[in-house]
Amino acid sequence: MKAVAVKPGKTYSAHLVDIDEPKVAAHEVLVEVEAIGIDGTDREINQGGYGKPPKGDDVLVMGHESYARVLEVGAGVRRFKPGDHVTATVRRPGGCVNCRHGAYDMCLDGDYTERGINGRHGYLTERYVDSEEFFVHVPDSLKDVGMLVEPVSVAVKGVEQAWAIQNRMWWQPHRAGILGAGQIGLFCAFLLRARGLEVHVMSQEDPDSLEAQLVKQVGGQYVDTRQRSITDVGESVGGFDVVFEATGYSPLIFEALKQLHTNGVMCLFSVTDGERKLEINSDIFNNQLVFGNRLVFGSVNSNHGHFERAVTSMEQFSLRWPGLLDSIITQKVHGLDNFDQAVATSKDAAEARRKAKNQIKSVVYMS
Ligand SMILES: [Zn+2]
Repeated sequence: MKAVAVKPGKTYSAHLVDIDEPKVAAHEVLVEVEAIGIDGTDREINQGGYGKPPKGDDVLVMGHESYARVLEVGAGVRRFKPGDHVTATVRRPGGCVNCRHGAYDMCLDGDYTERGINGRHGYLTERYVDSEEFFVHVPDSLKDVGMLVEPVSVAVKGVEQAWAIQNRMWWQPHRAGILGAGQIGLFCAFLLRARGLEVHVMSQEDPDSLEAQLVKQVGGQYVDTRQRSITDVGESVGGFDVVFEATGYSPLIFEALKQLHTNGVMCLFSVTDGERKLEINSDIFNNQLVFGNRLVFGSVNSNHGHFERAVTSMEQFSLRWPGLLDSIITQKVHGLDNFDQAVATSKDAAEARRKAKNQIKSVVYMS
């Protein structure tokens, strides 16, 4: 059976491999992959940034955003039957108390694995098998965008956490600032517009870019930060009750914090592996937090519950803004053999992709 794998640590190593057919055990589900979304994590793994093969293997099958059809279920499986459409969570629990209670996105000791990322093969293959508990139903109404449930679930977690944290007080947020118009920034914008907030997305895409158009489609405001700074936007609108950061550029956190209202909350999504340094006045930083009851928190990964609520949110988006989610998929690659169109196999190809405008999401379809 065909799959696309990388050699972790090597640059642009994505290649086709032949792997064994998976077999289904009593509490497992065997699925046939229909489509796989490719994101920044996949690209960073292919660039040798991180990624770890399963024990005893020297390659890692890529892919963690799947949309698949159930082929066969084990004798103990109750929630799925052949023909159902599903997606699957990414992280697999380790032994800590949070992992053992299904909160593997809140793992205490890092002793988890992740399909397609860390210690387990991913979904960029023809078929895969996993335990029933990690699958989530995808309704027919989302058949064209089922591979987006995983990235939407990451945004859902951040938004839910912000609201859960704010249960510390009486809080009626009105205005949100979102830094970055990649998929996580956009999904946050959709989720917050669905909650009725005024949304300002700030990023470095052109004002007539697809990203800006999607923000406008949901009734949000888009600002090209090459023309107007976060400070300028924040001061002109009167600051933000809640801020989501998803740019990958950490110095912005401190600029955005100054635009966060009293009692406000800021959620950080970006993974930053550089060595950026910034000189800050730590007394002022301290006072911003203390005097305003402000809170900055990080959010990573998502669990089964977030996936289920991502499905509900996506159904809501589809009713309210028809075609919105479909427009996120800007590149459709058909056939595993053509994977290199979605996953760069050279530095030049990666560079060309980075510079391409109006490219949000690549999806590899099995046929
Ligand atoms: Zn754990």
